[in-house]
Amino acid sequence: MALVSVNPASGEEIERYEEHSADEVDRRLSLAVDAFQRHRATGFDDRAAKMRRAADLLEERAREYGSIITMEMGKPISQAAAEAKKCALGCRYYAEHAEKFLEREAVDNDDGANIYVAFQPLGPVLAVMPWNFPFWQVFRFAAPALMAGNVGLLKHASNASACALAIEELFEEAGFDHGEFQALLISSERVADVIGDDRIRAATLTGSVGAGSSVGSQAGKQIKPSVLELGGSDPFIVLDDADLKMAAEIGVKARMQNTGQSCIAAKRFIVEDAVWKEFTKLFEERIGDLKIGDPMKDSTDVGPLAREDLREDVHDQVQRSLKQGAKLLVGGEILDRPGFFYTPAVLVDVEPGNVAFEEEIFGPVASIIRARDVDHAVELANATSFGLGGAVFTADREKGEEVALRLEVGCAFVNEMVKSDPRVPFGGVKASGYGRELSYFGIREFVNTKTVWIE
Ligand code: NAP
Repeated sequence: MALVSVNPASGEEIERYEEHSADEVDRRLSLAVDAFQRHRATGFDDRAAKMRRAADLLEERAREYGSIITMEMGKPISQAAAEAKKCALGCRYYAEHAEKFLEREAVDNDDGANIYVAFQPLGPVLAVMPWNFPFWQVFRFAAPALMAGNVGLLKHASNASACALAIEELFEEAGFDHGEFQALLISSERVADVIGDDRIRAATLTGSVGAGSSVGSQAGKQIKPSVLELGGSDPFIVLDDADLKMAAEIGVKARMQNTGQSCIAAKRFIVEDAVWKEFTKLFEERIGDLKIGDPMKDSTDVGPLAREDLREDVHDQVQRSLKQGAKLLVGGEILDRPGFFYTPAVLVDVEPGNVAFEEEIFGPVASIIRARDVDHAVELANATSFGLGGAVFTADREKGEEVALRLEVGCAFVNEMVKSDPRVPFGGVKASGYGRELSYFGIREFVNTKTVWIE
């Protein structure tokens, strides 16, 4: 079977990639095992030099890599080039900190023994990745994994093969040995076989709940560690004392960035009754300022959705929400032009039980929900199966912090949108997954935490 890349802005096929045969996958796994033996023996300085070179390439070619991203999944070029630069930041962060993060930890004792904890690499790790941030998702796995001495195998989304191959090439150009980071061009049906292969020591998946459940259970069955970064339905709480202009501005960015296709997009705007009307008006006005169009133009804010079937899913969710009583203030239309464009939408009168409240809508659709007071806002925020991120806007930073601590999420922000940053851990609770990426926590996911006791 072939993996097909389609330009979402035109609907035209860009390229067909033949899947790797079973023999080719077998060859790549063996190569990974050999490469691991060499790579694990290298020092942190050596790995850091290569990782810094990878960062240089990402910066120098941000626009070029950005074009590949935009061609394959349709995000506006300015955001795609910024994504490549963010990957450089991630590479530099781990180049600088990995050694310290994995330093041996001495254990004080009165036994006269030399006891310490060492952090050693596991071996080849399989990463199953999505198309929505087709570079950043990969680098935030690869930079810590490679710096820790592991080697990586990437099964990218079927519509992101050009990105997968560009990243494989980039690591080799940066000086990583052939086999230290490889792409596997395979469909998702073949992932279970790879996880089941003895040569794979761990797996990570970023994607939907269904895919996560499947990969998590396969890894569990094989007694292999896994990390799952799954979907979200992040609350964005606006309290009655908030700076509404700022909240609306940041809110629109938090929802519409990447054409709404972000796991940590603000998906449910939970607004206190007293300011509901004013906030909604400001929010709708900001939506009207967005420029929808050709993602290759720097001036474009909102591009097409990544695939036709995904646009159908989003439209279907909006239609079902309307049938259940939600109202559409603006947008929600399939544009009559080539490509998979969908106009940014605002739904109001969304309540628990409504599709827009219960399901993750992975597109440019904001749901506005009314809350009686702070406690009700927190109750609504937590009334979801997801638990990735959450934000609260208020003039009272102490009250904001209190709300942040009450949210059942992996990261909570006050007066700022939810975002990923190499310095802080990223991941979720509940159906949003387990394990953490980034920071000190991310690099410790794929290591053997080993006790060494010398009498
Ligand atoms: P997806 O369909 O789950 O695909 C993600 C990856 O998993 C792709 O490589 C896909 O391969 C593979 N896959 C799908 N089903 C699989 C299965 N049963 N077994 C093994 N692999 C499988 O997700 P998506 O639609 O591309 O991405 C959107 C979802 O990802 C949203 O729910 C979003 O919130 C979530 N996401 C989460 C994070 C996070 O960090 N928490 C970040 C970004 C996105 P194929 O393409 O070949 O099917």
